[in-house]
Amino acid sequence: MSGAEPVCPKCGGRMVKGELKTRMERLGTSAMSPFAPGMSMSGLPAMLDDVVSDLSWEEKTGEKKGFIFKREETRRMSVAGLRCTVCGYIELYAREK
Ligand SMILES: [Zn+2]
Repeated sequence: MSGAEPVCPKCGGRMVKGELKTRMERLGTSAMSPFAPGMSMSGLPAMLDDVVSDLSWEEKTGEKKGFIFKREETRRMSVAGLRCTVCGYIELYAREK
């Protein structure tokens, strides 16, 4: 780290780092108590209510691959960014995995 804190381009507020995720809450299970002993038949940990996965950026590279079947290549990147703690402005960056 350089030591210089990122500053919001809109209002000059302090910005914090974050990553874009998609969260899918499973229906029906989150209302139950997380401390229900003996209720889990599968033996899996009780953290399954939220399924979190990375959101990725995809773009066409313009290159075609394959000799017979031409398929346009795509480049996939992970999306991270900064959020202003004052006004909520989000600045996003796509980084190659
Ligand atoms: Zn701001």
